[in-house]
Amino acid sequence: MQRIRGRAASGGIVFGKIKFYRRDDITVKKHKVSNPELELQRYEYAKEVSLKELDELYEREVRKIGKDHAEIFMIHRMLIEDFGFVTKIEELIRNECVTADYAVHRAAAEVASSLGRAEDDYIRARTADVLDISGRLIRHIQNKSEQKLEFERNTILCTYDLEPSETIRLDKHLVRAVCTCYGSVTSHTSILTRTMGIPSIASLGKGLTDEYDGCDAIVDGYAGILYIDPDNATKRRMIEKREEEGRKRELLMRLRGRKNVTLDGREIALYANISGLTDMKYVVENDAEGIGLLRSEFMYLQNDDFPDEELQFYTYRRVLERMGGKRVVVRTLDIGEDKNPDFTYGDSENPAMGVRSIRLFFEKPEVFRTQLRALYRASMYGKLAIMFPLIVDPEEIQAIKATISNVLEELDSEGIPYSHDVEIGIMVETPAAVMLSDELAQEVDFFNIGTNDLEQYVLAIDRTDSRLEKYCRPHHKALIRMIKMAADNIHRCGKWVGICGELAGEPELLETFMSLGIDMLSVSPNKILPMRRRIRALKINDPKELLLSKGILKADAEGNVDFTDYGKKVNNEEQ
Ligand code: PEP
Ligand code: MG
Repeated sequence: MQRIRGRAASGGIVFGKIKFYRRDDITVKKHKVSNPELELQRYEYAKEVSLKELDELYEREVRKIGKDHAEIFMIHRMLIEDFGFVTKIEELIRNECVTADYAVHRAAAEVASSLGRAEDDYIRARTADVLDISGRLIRHIQNKSEQKLEFERNTILCTYDLEPSETIRLDKHLVRAVCTCYGSVTSHTSILTRTMGIPSIASLGKGLTDEYDGCDAIVDGYAGILYIDPDNATKRRMIEKREEEGRKRELLMRLRGRKNVTLDGREIALYANISGLTDMKYVVENDAEGIGLLRSEFMYLQNDDFPDEELQFYTYRRVLERMGGKRVVVRTLDIGEDKNPDFTYGDSENPAMGVRSIRLFFEKPEVFRTQLRALYRASMYGKLAIMFPLIVDPEEIQAIKATISNVLEELDSEGIPYSHDVEIGIMVETPAAVMLSDELAQEVDFFNIGTNDLEQYVLAIDRTDSRLEKYCRPHHKALIRMIKMAADNIHRCGKWVGICGELAGEPELLETFMSLGIDMLSVSPNKILPMRRRIRALKINDPKELLLSKGILKADAEGNVDFTDYGKKVNNEEQ
């Protein structure tokens, strides 16, 4: 038996036979041409046919799997038509007199490489989409037909990497699981496998080769393990695990529509962190009470240029409509050199402390005006909250508010309606924001503590450097005491505070956060129901005692303890 470990991308346990799939490689060679106009025509033709093909795919998949997940084809459409991408291709053909397929190949490689440098897994994973559309364009330029994806029953599809448009064409009655050597769990391919209910494992590495073609195998999509030629003991263990997981999921699903209330009647809201429209299905399926963090920068990084107002408006509007009146917190562009140097200055010694996030607001005001216009226009379609990242002092908020007033005057003068109830909030992710949280609380409606960055700045740990992992101590008292300080200041002003960094989903800190009276935890959608289960089994009789025992609170020389219970208490009759 062989056992290969990868990253768990879509849960489920499947027994089947491996089919190793190799895509017909498209070869593109650099040739000089004497008639660039002809190449431009070939490119135009390929673009037209590709767009038509994507429209057809979209229509078909809307009927099959619903609008949200067919959305990928609209994203591909936008990528093909992206102004920067198109211009790059045309310039290469005109200026360097190369063939149309080579120009597409090179332009896509450049875009993919800048996406590939992004820190965010989700954004990095968009590289696959760019390569997918370039493959489509090149296929049409070279007049090649689409490769057939025909498999037998009980196939465990193994491959180097699968493109989203290939994934969506899979017949899930035949292909029972997908395993890839490369790719990430946040790629569209992984997202699609989750949506289609196909267990999958990404990043299995080079150990997965075509020598296993035809072998019996078991995919454990929960643990991210592929067993090849499994022995009897493994088979038995996997059958038991499959039954157990089924029972667990059933129990969790019963928690939909139930409250996040402890046995002693303390309540907390559980929201979802998302990167865009494609995640909405999980938000609904897992019964999130709101969206606590929509990282809007993914839209910027999917495109070669800043997306225009219409595209942004459309995205925000769809998310708000899908949430049907539940709160949606959209964070404005939080991008820096770590994510994409082209948008900033590209030569900072230390990008985490460079021109990023809100600093770009001041460097590129027109980009933010466009985002604010799109957001306010969309505010008519639901309950919108706008959040600003990396704030260090109240003056920044005053400047932001002045820009907002300006944008609203502009919308008024154009007769464009917007909601007057949009909440304005900030991320607490710098030590400065913690120290000034009392003053900041005078300026905004809500706060979200970004523990990923706060930990990096408080413990002096570069979050992008994997060599520092052993120094990461998210339970560090300094960090938790800072969260307490900020939360107390915010509550004293009657404002609400959530946590949306990864720490929000940390089971061992749940009691601490509830004892601190945190109002909302925003986590990835699949964590919501397991957290709800945990909350409903908790009993926090004495939050002060709990915080004292964890060293978060300390008595002074006279034995006094600075503690006010800000927790939300409700009638827990449901329990
Ligand atoms: C954070 O810093 O905790 C956060 C949620 O933002 P990001 O991870 O996108 O920087
Ligand atoms: Mg952050």
